[in-house]
Formats: sequence, structure tokens, C-alpha cells
Amino acid sequence: MDNINDRQKDLNFLEEIIENDLKSGKYKQIITRFPPEPNGYLHIGHAKSICLNFGLAKKYGGKTNLRFDDTNPVKEDVEYVDSIKEDISWLGFQWAEEHYASDYFEQLYEWACLLITKGLAYVDDQTLEEIRINRGTVQTPGKDSPYRNRSVEENLDLFSRMKAGEFSDGEKILRAKIDMSHSNMHMRDPILYRILHSEHHRTGNKWCIYPMYDYAHGQSDSIEKITHSICTLEFDIHRPLYDWFIQKLDIFPSHQYEFARLNLSYTVMSKRKLLQLVKEGYVNGWDDPRMPTISGFRRRGYTAESIRAFCDSIGVAKRDNLIDYSRLEFALREDLNKSAKRVMAVLNPVKLVIDNYFYNGEEMLEAINNPEDESAGTRQLSFSNTLYIEKDDFMENPPNKFFRLAPGKEVRLRYAYFVTCTSVEKDAEGNITTIHCNYDPKSRGGNSPDGRKVKGTIHWVNAKDCIKAEVRLFDRLFTEELPDKTEEGKTFLDYINKDSLQVLNNCFLEKSLADVKPLDKFQFERLGYFSVDYDSNEKKLVFNRACTLKDSWIKSNNS
Ligand code: ATP
Ligand code: MG
Repeated sequence: MDNINDRQKDLNFLEEIIENDLKSGKYKQIITRFPPEPNGYLHIGHAKSICLNFGLAKKYGGKTNLRFDDTNPVKEDVEYVDSIKEDISWLGFQWAEEHYASDYFEQLYEWACLLITKGLAYVDDQTLEEIRINRGTVQTPGKDSPYRNRSVEENLDLFSRMKAGEFSDGEKILRAKIDMSHSNMHMRDPILYRILHSEHHRTGNKWCIYPMYDYAHGQSDSIEKITHSICTLEFDIHRPLYDWFIQKLDIFPSHQYEFARLNLSYTVMSKRKLLQLVKEGYVNGWDDPRMPTISGFRRRGYTAESIRAFCDSIGVAKRDNLIDYSRLEFALREDLNKSAKRVMAVLNPVKLVIDNYFYNGEEMLEAINNPEDESAGTRQLSFSNTLYIEKDDFMENPPNKFFRLAPGKEVRLRYAYFVTCTSVEKDAEGNITTIHCNYDPKSRGGNSPDGRKVKGTIHWVNAKDCIKAEVRLFDRLFTEELPDKTEEGKTFLDYINKDSLQVLNNCFLEKSLADVKPLDKFQFERLGYFSVDYDSNEKKLVFNRACTLKDSWIKSNNS
């Protein structure tokens, strides 16, 4: 007994419902669906919905359909269909069946005729504005349309002529006949069909009437025998209508369940707004690494596993909340820490010359590929008397606690030797151009020869064989935690972070990175996790920083 209770406690509310439905024999197998509208690229909120729908079906031996909710020809496109499929596959999920609401247009039309025949739908000639006014308010009931009592014959005739294209956009619509004083505004004779003389990306010009979301969605669920139709909280007020259609049409009883949508700090997540960022050039496309799209995260260097882990970790809530962006980075670090090869790269280089290093030929040193994964093995790094180190790792007049390189100070070069700075060379403006050092030959491998302590370890690359690269660093795209919740007279665009992209053109990488390909991921020691960008080619390598090694989102400024 205790065991069962414990188990129930660990289940989220959807799992509880499903387990009960399976136990009671209501369903033998559950079927869920992911129903995107192909009017933009998928974002991280969609990833949550994908992980939930596919995850539940997988856990309970069911299946998940992919259904494109393509009922608005004006905003939809095949480019989006393709990107959506690519993103779901990349996330690691396989749909059982691929469907399009537009495949059901004929059936939906027939059902609309059936509702008319039953006296449950009518053609209305009012303008959208009149309909809006006559709908009333939450406090006041609406007014019946003067066209509400048309005969079944007249309605069937008008509806078929709407379909035949005899009327222009907005001239007529089809409404359900429910109750103009219903306490739920969605039940006050909702619109089922509107006229739209617009070409559809799949059905072309076959149709000039298109079903509304509420009418198409539930019926599409029913056609596919979806057992658990999961959507976000804002649809709970639509549920009575969802149930009304199913009941009046007497079709397979799909059920709708709502959970809290994912909101992420420092970003926006509506496709309309993301489209605006793309169209108006605030970012470089839907897959810009700063975008909260799945394709943006992929390009930035996120792994599918880290996104799935993130979605699982936030759970399934029934109340809206805001998830901190740092939790995504946490999931990525957890994953890449296990899998990413460590390499050395210098982003802001300054030359270091070891004046007492004379080696015949090329010296090779051993480096560990991943301390978290012994099977990743080791690699050989070439060493010479001329290296690059980070400008930041040297200070001419350092404060007390600076443990990196400074005149007269000794530091460990990772996997190599101890070096002590002897002097610097500067250009006419006083910028340091070369740091001169002596090394201790007995400290090979970075080991102390006599127990003397060296606190700082810095990374380096060999100037004689390193590879030049471009590295892109990203900051949050918005300066506000909630760019959507704006002050009077401002929009989310007023909170764009103008410094969200920093391009470093003069970076040097160790030679082992010569043959990388897009999306390969590495830890640049001490700098973060980096991923090869699609813009890389034989002439130039481009890397994106996916995230830093430590949380850079916490508010204090400890670099
Ligand atoms: P947007 O407002 O960004 O355009 P949408 O809800 O209109 O989003 P759809 O393509 O209709 O986008 O959504 C497909 C599915 O993804 C729906 O079931 C929807 O509830 C779910 N979904 C969308 N945004 C989120 C989110 N932020 N968190 C969780 N699920 C979401
Ligand atoms: Mg939508």
C-alpha cells in the first residue's frame, strides 16, 4: 500500500490521470499529439510540449502524432513545416503519424453541415465589428444576431455558397448556435468558419472557407482518436466548447487537459514576436544563436539531451511561472561536462616568448581529453618558444591576489612548464606586444620539480602551428527579465540588448581543431563550451560560445 502511495506522489497530474485511465480500462493505449501551427519555427516552449506529449506516450506504451494545425493560410508556409519536423527529430522523438488539419477539411465541412441540420449552426451576415459588439461583456449578456433564426435550408444553401466562393472575405461567417448569454464568452455563438480567399500551402485554392481553431482542433483530435489532448492553460476556458462539439457531433470523445506554459526569463516566446525579430533584422534569422528557438539553441551548441533534461527538470505545473534562463545553461553544462573534449584556445591573444627554450625539433606534450571520461584518452600538443596566451592572464601592475602572470611572477602553462616573466615589449602607444619569460625545464608536464608552489595555471596555444578562428560570444537578447511586461508606450523591442553579440576575429586554437565540422562541441579550457558554427568553411573556422563554465547569469559581477 505504502508503495503505491509513494509512487502516486512522484507522478505529475497528467501521469496520474493516464494511469487511472489505463487502470480503469477506459483506454487500452493512450494517443497524444503535438499540434503546431506552421507559422514559425519552434521555440523552447514548444520543446516542453514535445517532451511532455512524446514522453507520456513513451512512458505508457502509447503513441504520439504530429499534426500541423494549418487552418490559417495567410501565415503558414512549408518552410515552417520542414523546420518543425527537423527540430522534433533532432530532439530525439519520432511521431507515429504525420497529419494536417487541412487533410480533414472535407470531414470538418460535413460536420458543419450536420450541425446546421441539427439546428446548431447558422450563417451570420453581421460584420466582425457587429459580432464583437453584440457579444456583450463578462457582465452583460450578448444580443442574438438578426440572422440567428434562419431556416436549416437557407443556412445549408448559404454555407455551400460560401464554400463555392460566391461571397467575399468577411461577408458571411458560420457560427455555432449555443447561447448568447452564456457566462463563458467562448460559448456565445462562436465562429466556426470564415471566408478567406487565400492560397493554402497544401490545399492551394480548393478552399475559400477555413475553420477556426476551436472548431478544427478538437475535431481533428477526435478523428485521430487522441485520448489525451494536452495544451497550455489559456485554453481551459475553451474546454466547454471542445466538449460541446464532440457531444453534439457524437464523435470519439477526446479529452483536453491543460498545463502551465513554459516562460523563460530574458526572452520572448511568441512566434509573432520572434518573427518580428527576424523580419526587422534584430537577429540573423530564426536560428540565430541568441534566439530561444530550438534551431537557435542547436546552432549555439545546445545538445538535444540537455534540452530534454531541462524540460524534464521543470516538471508539469498547473500554474504559470517564470523559469530562470540559468537553468537551461545548468542542463547544458551537466551534459557537456561529461561529453565535451577539452582543448585550448586563446580568444584575446598576446605573444609570449620563452627566451631560454632551445629545443631541437618539435616537442610534444601530453594533454588529457576529458578528465570526466577516461575513455576519451589523451592527445599530443606541440610546444615551442613562441606561444599565445590571453591578454587577461597578464598584468604589469597586478593587485595582491592576482595569481596569473606578471613581471617576476611564475605561472604554470597547462600541461607544459612553469614560466617566469622577465620583461615586456610595447608598441608606440604603450600596448604590450610581447611578454618575455624563462622556463624551468624540470617542470615538464606542469609538475613542480621541488615542491615549490605555483598558484596560477593558464592556457596557451603554440604560435607556430595554431589555427586562426572567429569566435562569437553572446549575451542575453533582452535587458529585462520580462521584456513582454512593458511600461506604457514601450514594446518588447525597446528592451533589446544592443550588446548581445560580440565577434572576436583574432582568436587562436590548438592545431587539433583543424578538422572540426559544424555543431562539434568542445570545452575551451577556462573559457566555456563552444560549438562550431555553420558559417565555418575551409578558409575560416567560426565558433559559438554555448555557455561559460560558471553561471554568468547571477546578478553579482564576479568575473
Ligand atoms: P506561440 O504563441 O508562440 O505562437 P502557439 O501556442 O500559438 O505559440 P502552436 O504552434 O499553436 O503555438 O503550439 C503548438 C503546441 O505547443 C500547443 O499545444 C501549445 O500549447 C504548445 N506550446 C506553445 N507555447 C508553449 C509554451 N511556452 N510552453 C509550453 N507549451 C507551449
Ligand atoms: Mg497558436
